[in-house]
Amino acid sequence: MAPQFRAMQLERANTPLRQITRALRAPRAGEVRISVLACAVCRTDLHVIDGELPEPVLPIIPGHEIVGQIEELGPGVDAFRLGQRVGVPWLGWTCGACEFCTAGRENLCPDARFTGYQLDGGFASTAYADSRYVFGIPPRFGDAEAAPLLCAGLIGWRTLKAAGRGPRLGLYGFGAAAHIAIQVARFQDQEVFAFVRPGDEKARDFALRMGAAWAGPSDAPAPASLDAAIVFAPAGELVPLALRAVKPGGVVVCGGIHMSAIPSFPYSILWHERVLRSVANLTRADAVEFLALAEQIPVRTETIPYLLDDANQAVADLREGKLSGAAVLIPQ
Ligand SMILES: [Zn+2]
Ligand SMILES: [Zn+2]
Repeated sequence: MAPQFRAMQLERANTPLRQITRALRAPRAGEVRISVLACAVCRTDLHVIDGELPEPVLPIIPGHEIVGQIEELGPGVDAFRLGQRVGVPWLGWTCGACEFCTAGRENLCPDARFTGYQLDGGFASTAYADSRYVFGIPPRFGDAEAAPLLCAGLIGWRTLKAAGRGPRLGLYGFGAAAHIAIQVARFQDQEVFAFVRPGDEKARDFALRMGAAWAGPSDAPAPASLDAAIVFAPAGELVPLALRAVKPGGVVVCGGIHMSAIPSFPYSILWHERVLRSVANLTRADAVEFLALAEQIPVRTETIPYLLDDANQAVADLREGKLSGAAVLIPQ
């Protein structure tokens, strides 16, 4: 029998991932074949599994926070060597020719393809990736520890840049992305206020332990007027709350790929040049910047390991808000 690899595959939205095996193939031109060491579970994987995103290519192997070792180089790949440890993020391919790609905004490429959504991802023992969208992982990070940097970290970095460097930053939702973003914000000398689901003492304690100046329920008034707020939780009702919490000229950044509907709100909470914006995907430049910064800080991620075969449990635990940190699937 030809050599095979194991994976957890989504066949239809709203059904559990199914254990499968697939034949190993040689990487195509420009591709690398990666032996997966760890793959973190992101809220976006949940949105894919729950059928909340419009364009999945099914069946799909989810997972876009992949850390692995290069096992085989496809024709023409010279930027990596065999055995090198690399990371594969959400952005898996872009056209390189559209108005966005040519303006350094490849995150907005209308033809972009995403790992674990349109390209098979890392809930597997082996993954394939276009080598132009793969990054070396700094040696100071362990495999599991590095995995959440590849989306929670990267998207957090892009949202932080959009939020600016004002001294007081609010974070709405305190999961994998926020627990990394707070470390970067504090490194930038920002004071962080964490807003969690009312009654979620575990998330509140987690935020305080990670260095929040204050942590409290999202429906409580902010203890100080904020320069910016980032909404990581996929709950549209947080947006008006965040707008009320920021000062004139302040920015509210929505960091998720999907959010429930935003309720209508009075113009007065947007007035005075407050800005409401989203952040979509990432660029390769974001990845290069962030991985260097994460090494310098250094960012410490909290991870909860799961066997690859237990991917459905990891997904369920994330959905239920049980995790303080990032779930990481370990295939070996
Ligand atoms: Zn493009
Ligand atoms: Zn993600």
